[in-house]
Amino acid sequence: MEIRKRKRIEIRGVVQGVGFRPFVYRLALRFNLSGFVCNTPDGVLIEAEGANFALAEFCNGLTLNSPALADIQDVVTCDVNPLQDTEFMIRSSLERSSEIVLVSPDVATCDDCRQDFTNPADRRFGYPFTNCTNCGPRYSFVEDVPYDRARTTMREFRMCPDCQAEYDNPGNRRFHAQPNACPVCGPNLTLVDAAGANLPIATAPEVGMNPDLDVIREVRRLLFRGKVVAIKGLGGFHLACNAENDGSVARLRALKRRSDKPFALMSADVSSVARFCVVREADQKVLQSPRRPIVIFARRPGARVSAAVAPGNDTLGVMLPYTPLHALLFGDTPEDPPAFTALVMTSGNMSEEPIVTSNEEALQQLGSVVDAFLMHNRRIHMREDDSVVRVFQGKAHVLRRSRGYAPAVIELGSPLAEVLACGPELKNTFCLTRGCNAIVSQHIGDLENYETLEFFEETLTNLKRLFRVEPKVVAYDLHPRYLSTQYAFEQSNLHKVGVQHHHAHIASCMAENGLNEKVIGVAFDGTGYGTDGQIWGGEFLVADFEHFERRAHLRYFPLSGGNAAIRQPWRSALSCLREVFGGELPEGLPLWDSVSGKQTDLALTMMGKGINTVMTSSCGRLFDAVASILGVRHEITFEAQAAVELEIAAVAGTEGVYPFQMEYTEPWQVDVRPMIESIVSELQEGETVGSIAARFHGTLAVMIAEVCRELRCREPLNKVCLSGGTFQNTFLLERTLAALADYNFEVYLHERVPPNDGGISLGQAVIASATVKKGV
Ligand SMILES: [Zn+2]
Ligand SMILES: [Zn+2]
Repeated sequence: MEIRKRKRIEIRGVVQGVGFRPFVYRLALRFNLSGFVCNTPDGVLIEAEGANFALAEFCNGLTLNSPALADIQDVVTCDVNPLQDTEFMIRSSLERSSEIVLVSPDVATCDDCRQDFTNPADRRFGYPFTNCTNCGPRYSFVEDVPYDRARTTMREFRMCPDCQAEYDNPGNRRFHAQPNACPVCGPNLTLVDAAGANLPIATAPEVGMNPDLDVIREVRRLLFRGKVVAIKGLGGFHLACNAENDGSVARLRALKRRSDKPFALMSADVSSVARFCVVREADQKVLQSPRRPIVIFARRPGARVSAAVAPGNDTLGVMLPYTPLHALLFGDTPEDPPAFTALVMTSGNMSEEPIVTSNEEALQQLGSVVDAFLMHNRRIHMREDDSVVRVFQGKAHVLRRSRGYAPAVIELGSPLAEVLACGPELKNTFCLTRGCNAIVSQHIGDLENYETLEFFEETLTNLKRLFRVEPKVVAYDLHPRYLSTQYAFEQSNLHKVGVQHHHAHIASCMAENGLNEKVIGVAFDGTGYGTDGQIWGGEFLVADFEHFERRAHLRYFPLSGGNAAIRQPWRSALSCLREVFGGELPEGLPLWDSVSGKQTDLALTMMGKGINTVMTSSCGRLFDAVASILGVRHEITFEAQAAVELEIAAVAGTEGVYPFQMEYTEPWQVDVRPMIESIVSELQEGETVGSIAARFHGTLAVMIAEVCRELRCREPLNKVCLSGGTFQNTFLLERTLAALADYNFEVYLHERVPPNDGGISLGQAVIASATVKKGV
């Protein structure tokens, strides 16, 4: 008789909800092994028994051929006594909790499922909730781990015999697919008017028994007629309308009171997107990836998409359909030409509140905005917005991290203290740590209202449960008025660590790049509370996780008007002009025609007396100042609008560099008054706005590189981390990278977390952990 061996194999990583157990099962059958596989709270546990050679091949195959969506972090193998069992089984889950199990982010519809619901002969033809072990809802519908149907929002649906047979058959693609469903047993659609009353649906006689597809066809007709429809998706509702219909888009913009902030679009496929955007090869890959984010593209001149989609902007954010429901909005079968070039698919919420998830919430909050609701009865457990990505120099850089990305962990190499980092105020995310992993929440939003704080709390409760984290330490931003900071102070039983905003930016960039050493950190953004109580935002730090020193910053200028200063770039312009010209402000600037003398006089008086005035080194405000001096924009309706428009203007300009000066106080100050003076005189001499904007960007790039070079003269540091929302400006980033490369710096950027404040929580977490561990 052959000698049998038995191995116990524990696998950690993203191995649940990705078809891992069926894969193990099939592999075991192939090598004629007995034993079992089951999910555990840690991942997957396998015991396999059989011939020694077969076991070795099996173990190799586990890591070499694992399913596409699996991400194995760790495999621990040991020998155990053979049990002489005769078959290999998939066991129900073990309840255990030591390490963490990694919950998979939501996964866009796979090609196999797409074939099913677009094939008129398939039993799932036109079924908007089709999924399999390779695709479908995950984070948005998982209520607890281990990952089983009973712990998802699909527990409310009992599988029909056909679905159950698929679910039980290890050879089937839907074997143990927890969200498995079909038109007979799964969730269904309803179409109601703004008041919640059912709308009449035309039934297609040739298909007959396909009520969901009939509903979707009706929605297509409504969208064609210019209607605005709220559509329940994976992580929440979208507000949808035909992006080519100027009237519909303008109406949606007015109803949503969304200022000029760009709307996201959805388009049927890559070739449709290429009709109105410039799609490069690297963009295409990201656009089609299973994460299916919104990708930022350059807009094609003359594209038929309504100008009201992104007023004043030369880019468009576009995503491809990521659920069968979305795909069917564009047509029933692959042969149909797409019904729309693009649909507006903006988050279903009022102004800056969280995305709406339940049918009741939708009726209540969006009833005044839409003509109809396309709803369904699969509950959304975790709300998620769409993620936003930009491809820069061939690589995907996340700008908003949510659906498809969260709650994937960021591995940090060494274990951390268990921390809750509460994040900043704007673009809030929070971060939990467990073992070597940082768990960054999905994008929560601007923590400026009660609803968003509630979203923060519900997500925190959920992630603590899913990852079995009970933090001992809480990290907070130094700004005393941030709701996230106030939340941290309410956690009376936790050890508190305050983290400076720009230190957190740099630490975040270090953490995701695996750096744990002193670096030069350049943190440029709009607003961050400084240790001196002023508003920082043009900062050169020398930092590691435990400490930072502020070595240099943009020279302070006074900013009056409190929050109004951020909405009114002319206030920054006025202040910078006053710093340069004193009482003799230059004449003939566009600013004087756009803002009343009464307003500017009042602001000057306030600055002079220091009333409601702070000192700032903010690069965001410097962008505002230049934009307003040039007449590009004096007032904004969404964050960084003036900077975005200045960047657009720069693209057409002739480049150059303006003078600036260093003041070698401690910390050094970079004096940009010579630059402002040059800008004003060039403008008065009739130079184009584009060229001045281009030279302004060029000056910043050269200035960053020069300051870094001088810092390197004092201390041998060659690694530079760039962080902060300002570096979302690709015109600036390209030139900064080139200038730093000229001096042979090694430069690190964000990719997996946003460079903007969405990345702050990760930095706070690693700093707090290092602080607690060192006892500093
Ligand atoms: Zn699938
Ligand atoms: Zn079924």
